[in-house]
This record gives sequence, C-alpha cells and structure tokens, in this order.
Amino acid sequence: MQGLRVHISGIVQGVGFRPFVYNLALRMNLAGWVNNTSAGVDIHIEGEEANLRSFIEKLTSEKPPLAVMDEISVKEVPPENFTTFDIQHSTPIEGAFQPISPDVAICDDCLREMFDPSDRRYRYPFINCTNCGPRFTIIKDIPYDRPKTTMAGFPLCPDCEREYRDPTNRRFHAQPVACSVCGPQVWLENGSNVEGQKLLIGDEAIVQTQQLLVDGKIVAVKGLGGFHLACDATNPAALTELRARKLRVDKPFALMMPDIATIEEHCFVSDAERELLISVARPIVLLKRRPESNIAREVSPGQDNIGVMLPYTPLHYLLFSDSLHSSSFILHPLVMTSGNLSEEPIATDNNEARERLSKLADAFLFHNRDIHIRCDDSVVRVFADNRKSEIENRKSIYPLRRSRGYSPFPVKLPFEVKHVLATGAELKNTFCITNKNYAFLSHHIGDMENYETLKSFEQGVEHFERLFRVMPVAIAHDLHPNYLATRYALERAERENLPTFNIQHHHAHIAACMAEHGLDGSRPVIGLAFDGTGYGDDGAIWGGEILVADYRGYQRVGQLEYFPLPGGDAAIRKPARTALALLWSLGMDWDARLESVKEFCADDRTLLRTQLEKKINTPLTSSMGRLFDAAAALAGVRQSVNYEAQAAIEFEALADPLEGGKYSFTWSPPKIEIRSAIEALVADVLAGVPVAKISARFHNGLADVCRVASMGVREAMGVNEVALSGGVWQNLTLLDRTLLSLRESGFQVYMHRQVPTNDGGLALGQAVIAAAKL
Ligand SMILES: [Zn+2]
Ligand SMILES: [Zn+2]
Ligand SMILES: [Zn+2]
Repeated sequence: MQGLRVHISGIVQGVGFRPFVYNLALRMNLAGWVNNTSAGVDIHIEGEEANLRSFIEKLTSEKPPLAVMDEISVKEVPPENFTTFDIQHSTPIEGAFQPISPDVAICDDCLREMFDPSDRRYRYPFINCTNCGPRFTIIKDIPYDRPKTTMAGFPLCPDCEREYRDPTNRRFHAQPVACSVCGPQVWLENGSNVEGQKLLIGDEAIVQTQQLLVDGKIVAVKGLGGFHLACDATNPAALTELRARKLRVDKPFALMMPDIATIEEHCFVSDAERELLISVARPIVLLKRRPESNIAREVSPGQDNIGVMLPYTPLHYLLFSDSLHSSSFILHPLVMTSGNLSEEPIATDNNEARERLSKLADAFLFHNRDIHIRCDDSVVRVFADNRKSEIENRKSIYPLRRSRGYSPFPVKLPFEVKHVLATGAELKNTFCITNKNYAFLSHHIGDMENYETLKSFEQGVEHFERLFRVMPVAIAHDLHPNYLATRYALERAERENLPTFNIQHHHAHIAACMAEHGLDGSRPVIGLAFDGTGYGDDGAIWGGEILVADYRGYQRVGQLEYFPLPGGDAAIRKPARTALALLWSLGMDWDARLESVKEFCADDRTLLRTQLEKKINTPLTSSMGRLFDAAAALAGVRQSVNYEAQAAIEFEALADPLEGGKYSFTWSPPKIEIRSAIEALVADVLAGVPVAKISARFHNGLADVCRVASMGVREAMGVNEVALSGGVWQNLTLLDRTLLSLRESGFQVYMHRQVPTNDGGLALGQAVIAAAKL
C-alpha cells in the first residue's frame, strides 16, 4: 500500500475533470478523494504501486477533451486507509486562482439528444453537459459552482438533480445543466414592444422567428455573449435595410451557416479552415467566397472574403432546423452581426436590448439566462506557413479578434511576474492582467471612443481582477495621453497610489509578439512594427517602425520617412488627402489624370496646398497604414473610407499573385525612403498598368525593403531574430512575401499565432514590459 497526493493546475474545473478522476480511480482500484480548490484540483489516492503509476499516466493520456493541464505535482504521502473513492466539496483558498474555460460550442452528444424525439431534452435550446456550453460568460466568481453563475436562479428539477449528482453521468456537476422543466426558456417579442409582452414562447417562438427571417425581417437573437442581429444573407433588401439601421456603410457582416456542406457551397474551405470552423471555439473564419455563391454582395462590399461561422449554441441549431409545426423551413445562411448601433458595445441584457435595439430589430428572440460578461464572436483566419508541412499547418490560426471561445484562456509567460494591469489602446481595445506566469488577455472590448464602451471596459477589468485574484501593483498604458484607456489608467493609479508605466505603442506590439512565443527577453529582436497609428516619443504619429527591442527597452533603428497628414483624422477618412500630401512632400506633381487629384476641385486643391505649405494642422507620420491608404488612392482603388483600413484591404484583395515585379523603396538608415517607389507607382498608373500588377509590385517592394533593412540592422547590431507585429500584418499578401524573403536571408521570424497582430494584442505587450521593468 502506498499513497500519493496530486495537485493539478490549469483548466481543470467545469470540464468534467473530477468525474474523470473518480472513474479512473475506480478502474485502477484505488481509494481516496478528489476535490476542486480555487487553485486547481487536489487528489489523494492510495493502493498498489503499479496501479498508482498507471493512474498518473492515464491522468494525462486520457484527460477530458476540454481540460488543459499546466502543471502536475505528485508527492508520496502515508496511506490513510481509505476504503472508497469520493468526490469532495469545493474548497476556496484565499487568494488562489486558476484559469477558467472559455465558452464551448454544443457537443455532438447534446446535439444528438436535442434532435431525438424520445429524449427529455428534445428541442430544448439550453441543453448542455460537462463537455459543452457556457462558462466564461455566466461565471460570477470562483470556484466554478452553480451558485456563482447566472444559473443560480434556476433550481434543479429532480431529473436534472439526479444527473448532476451521478459521477458516471455526462452531466455530473455540469453547472449550467437544465431542462425545459427547470431551466431557462426562449420567447418572442415585437421590436416596438417596450413592456416586454411575450408574443410566443418556446418552440413556437423559434418557428415564428424562422418565418420572420424568411420574410426578410431583422430579428435580434440573444446568444451566449450578447445579442446578434440576424437576417437572411441572400436577401439584398434585408441587408440594405440592416446597413441603414445599423449606420454601417460597407464594413462586412459575419455570417452563420448551418453546416460545413453549406459553407463549402459558398466558400473555398481548406483543411485548416475546416478544422477551425468545427473547433469548440467556433470562431468566425475569413474564407474566400466562391464566385457562384448567392450570398448577397452587400454582405462584404469590395472584398473577396467573407466571415463565416457554424452554429455554436443549441438555439442556433434550432433556428436552422426543420420545424415541427411547419414542414418547409430550412433557412438560408444568416447574417449574424453584433447587436449594437455602429461601434457601441454589443447588448447583453434584455432591458438594455429593448432600449438600444428597438430601432434596429423588427422582433426579439429573448431568453432568461443572464449574460454576466459580454463576449463578442472571435474572428480568425488561416495563415499557412510555406516552410511547414501540411499537418503542422492544420493549426495555422492567425487571430484577428480574440474573444468568445478563446478568452479568458491565458497566454503562458516564460517567467513569473507581479500583478499588473495593462489598459491597451483605443481601437479594438482589450486589456491584460498578469498573475504568476499567466497573462490574461481580455475578450474584445471594442473601440474606446464612447461612454458605453468605457463602462464595458471597467466592468471587464473588475471581473478579471475578481476571477483571477489580481490586485494590480502597477498599471501600464499607452503613450497617447488622450486615449480613454490611458485616462482610466492615470485616474485609477492616482486613486490607488500605484506606479504607472507609459509604454510606447510599437514597443508594446513587438513585446506582445515576443511574449506569445515565450522569448525570455535575454536577447533583443528586430521588431518590424507596422500599423496605422501609434503615438511616438517625438509626438509624431508612428506606424512604420524598425525597433531593436527587448522587454526593458528599445532603440528606433529605422522608420518610414515622415510625411504630413493634413487634417489628421480627416486624412484618415479620406486617403485622397494623404495621397496628395505624400506627393507634395516628395516634391511630385499633382497630375490631373490621377483619381486622387480629380477628387478635389481647383479651389480645394489650392486650400490643401496652402495648408501643407503653412503646416496648418499637418502632423507628421511614419505610418505604414497611411502609406497603404495613399498607394491605394493613387492606384485609383478608393479615395475615401468608411471603416478602418478599408482602402488597404481592397488594395490587397486586387494583388496579382503571379506578378514578380516590385517598386524599389530605399533603405537609407535610419529611413525607409518612399520616393522612387511612389514615382514608379504613379508612372504605372499613368501608363494604364492594371491595378492588380500595381498592387502586387507595391507589396513586393515593401517585403523587399523589410529584408534589406533587417540585413542592415543585423550587420550593425548582430541581431538575427525578427518579430512582425502591428495591424498592417493583417495583410497576408505582405506577410507571406516578407516572411519568405526574410527567411531566404536566414532570419528567425516570429509572427502572431495566439493574440491578434492588431491593437487587440497590444495590452499583452504593455503588461510584459511593465512587469519586466518592475
Ligand atoms: Zn454537451
Ligand atoms: Zn431539469
Ligand atoms: Zn497598433
């Protein structure tokens, strides 16, 4: 007889871990106990040595699908002569924490039961089990137990109670477990109905929702992390109406399709893309649309990609299913866009939705399971790495928005850090808190430009600090003094008397990339930080930066040469302005044949020239994003935009993959000079060269100067590792070509795989830099 005490940390709660341990112990003929603590799972087992050994082996090899074990510690203890194996009650430990599972898409077993007429949960829209269902969005505190979730108000019926107590049942201690007798319900309301009068409930509500969608109506559907606005994606009139109501001109809408076969009818789907679509995170995956698809063009104007996801809640599956009461409802693909006006946060609460969405939706499909924390859908794409095998590339995720299904899964750091809060940037904001060797990057908060989003940010911070038992000892923020996230950091630091760290935007980008690759910071990297806007040390708008950086500091060894941005934000909305300013600063003519020049009447041109000459509100920028805007405008692609990076996205979409020519940028340290490239581009435009070739030559030229500049820096400073970060690297054409040319020159290259390369990943870098400086 021997005894072992085992402690496991990681995602081991709410994923069926204790019943797994219980059943394994019985199989191995071992006695003792297992319990959840706020720090993980503790196990005491005793029995024969061989059985103990195989128990420990099988703990890893047979673990439940959703469990993630970060550390297992095993020590010998004297046996206490247990005769049974028991599952004990959860014990909270002061200050202890552990990672929490993200929300998980409905599993195959639950899906089968939901469509089985003999099952007691037949067509029940909240069916779930230990292997699936809501987690992060319903948890109020740890340890993860039903009273600490938004299911606390639904006492279990005797049938559910029996399943919940039975360690051999798939629903043993599944906290959100419910059925139509005891659990949440759905109902339908009119869009204009402020009193909350229920028109129909349960199945009838779902069937009527299908009818409304078929009829071209817009329905607000309450989901897992917030409301969606749904409409028929093949109905141009419905889409035009949705765009008008949501005040959204061209920015693409996400789609939901019932199954992979339907997705393949409309899009090209690679193995890696299929794997992401069906993964338990169920993100929106950007896919290339098939030319013959009947998805309305209004879904994503000017783009050849569409964002598609599979259903992930039981309610979504019911929405797409044949109904009982009427024989012919099989819905078309649906638009499922976040339930909000323009850039406000997604609505989560029923009353809030009635108030905020009544002008947007014709009807509401509500339910009464509360959403404790809002969580938008995640957006990812696949970036296959040419150097790797097809099998390795099956996991080639490239995250664009990391939220539902991924958050609050932590990034593991290569060292232990103190409790730090990093507040992120302005657009696509996320924040980050650290505890031990975990960095918890938040769900997507959104563009921090209004009061509602700031409120949502504050709620999120409070929630993360409670869940992960963090009391920040320092706050990191962006260098930009006017970001709401910066102001929050400064005010809170003053109130709580905490030190702050003022972190340069592009340094944070590069540090985020280093951190997710587990670099310990003992060697610097060459950081190619390319994005739209970041506040520079000299007060200019940076965005085309070559840094030699570690966590503690950086040296700006290169930059795109400065050019003026007349009117600042006005130029961002109107790339034609940026294009003309660029030509002016390079001493080039405003040739009247160029689309960007035609965009202005003679008077406006004179005004613009005077503004540039007299330097009236013309901040200098080295932004790569703005250079893309200018190039796209000069090439005639787009003169004004109505969402971020629209011109660059459309310019990239046109690039001819077979074109080998390039425009030459000049590396003249510390500057990347633009002139010869723009002269060649303008000459091509005036000579009538197709825009597909112009776009490709521009991309090829930039990729090449990345290589040349990196080689120069390597020669001067002996650094051979390159990190790519910043929103411009969402451009996969540029990424692919740069990666190739850097590797041909022998560089070790890092790019983002866990967190977004855009500002959605920035807070991770801020947190690690602050932690390193502490
Ligand atoms: Zn399930
Ligand atoms: Zn029940
Ligand atoms: Zn940025």
